[in-house]
Amino acid sequence: MEDGFSAPRLFAQGVSYTYDDVIVLPGYIDFPADAVDLSTRLSRRLPLSIPCVASPMDTVSEASMSIAMAALGGAAIVHCNDAPARQAAVIRAAKSRRIPFVTDPAFFSPSDVVPDFGQDAYALVTESGNSKSKVIGVVAKSDWESLQDKSATVSDYMRPAPELVPASYDFEKVASFLVGGGLEYAPLVAEDGEVVDLVTKEDVERIRAFPKLGMPSLDSDGRFIVGAAIGTRETDKERLEHLVKAGANVVVVDSSQGNSSYQIDMIKYAKSMYPKLDVIGGNVVTIAQAQNLIKAGADGLRVGMGSGSICTTQEVCAVGRGQATAVYKVASFAKDHDVPVIADGGISNSGHIVKALVLGASTVMMGSFLAGSSEAPGVYEYLNGHRVKKYRGMGSLEAMTKGSDARYLGDKLKLKVAQGVVGSVADKGSVLKFIPYTMQAVKQGFQDLGASSLQSARDLLHSEILRFEVRTGAAQVEGGVHGLVSYEKKFF
Ligand code: 5GP
Repeated sequence: MEDGFSAPRLFAQGVSYTYDDVIVLPGYIDFPADAVDLSTRLSRRLPLSIPCVASPMDTVSEASMSIAMAALGGAAIVHCNDAPARQAAVIRAAKSRRIPFVTDPAFFSPSDVVPDFGQDAYALVTESGNSKSKVIGVVAKSDWESLQDKSATVSDYMRPAPELVPASYDFEKVASFLVGGGLEYAPLVAEDGEVVDLVTKEDVERIRAFPKLGMPSLDSDGRFIVGAAIGTRETDKERLEHLVKAGANVVVVDSSQGNSSYQIDMIKYAKSMYPKLDVIGGNVVTIAQAQNLIKAGADGLRVGMGSGSICTTQEVCAVGRGQATAVYKVASFAKDHDVPVIADGGISNSGHIVKALVLGASTVMMGSFLAGSSEAPGVYEYLNGHRVKKYRGMGSLEAMTKGSDARYLGDKLKLKVAQGVVGSVADKGSVLKFIPYTMQAVKQGFQDLGASSLQSARDLLHSEILRFEVRTGAAQVEGGVHGLVSYEKKFF
């Protein structure tokens, strides 16, 4: 007896569905949730161990996010709303280490007076007062605070030069170096002698309190995998060169409507200049758009138009598609060309991630879901008693004024019209904590529908064993918490 709808039937009704509109019917369980394998590919040649990607947005992905996402087995795409040299410096910073965080210590020279420690407890003293010269000591903020004579130079009270750790050491190696050696801190030093960071015992304890890190995303040299966004202007060819030199493993051609001659030319250019580099095209939401970009050589497709939390494209331009429909349609086409699909935007809970993946996406790309983390750029502020971080659309007037207007073709127009807003999101703590919990929830979703991997979910989808239904407004209300006077929602 037929029960529920198959995906082809559900998505052939001429209705644009988003994640909340659809529900997946349960399947048969014969494996534990922990046995679910979420490993996947970001693009044709880039494997990831978790299907999570951070958006190329200037309030989401810079060095700290790139490092943390790669350490977790996902990836981040460094935004291009910056000068090419600065974007390349972010990539270099992310690729210079194997520990899952950045602390950005201050550097002083021995003759400095009144050092500015910022938030840090320790700073490094080097011969010339910068990261490129030899480490000769460490100064502690507490030592400076207890000084009687505040006009003393750093050399008067600095501690002796600490033992150095190679920056190529991963977290466990650095941790055992510090803990095993009974050390308070140790500078990380790259092969060329540059001091990359200063790791303290407190950093080790903080990271150890998070869930154990899984398999990181590493390139063939054992460095973290980092992606970068580029635009479609002539000047982006020079940007691309900077990024490739800095070690970017994949580039995303960042357009809100990717089916354009500008993007096709850029994909062809990038593929011919750097044949070993994977190039992701987008954004697309239809088969025709996907077809053009795949033909141009795209190694991955970013899917979503108007689904982003900060996005006003559908309101302003009346163009786009419901995200569940877009992901299913594009992924069903792209799979026949072996091109992985990134479901971009509209993710606000683990259930959305499960839906995106079972509809055929290989990864999900997230902005707002990650923007409140300690790894996102920017500082926390208080808004109506809530600790928040700023999160802005790259098509907001504020971001476009800084340079992101090319994504929305705004640079070619005399009058700029925003397709995004500026807002704020709640403090969520570290991605090193909440992404592992989110992935555990995704595994439980896969277990419920009877899929032990992304491939097995896809097999169930295309063999039409996986069944779906559309949720009415009332079913959506019923599917959330309801009927309570008050409650507290805690996920872990
Ligand atoms: P979120 O995860 O917050 O729902 O969506 C993030 C995605 O929204 C990004 O990866 C990008 O595709 C898209 N996006 C970012 N900024 C803007 C914007 O200002 N306007 C539009 N239309 N989309 C945006």
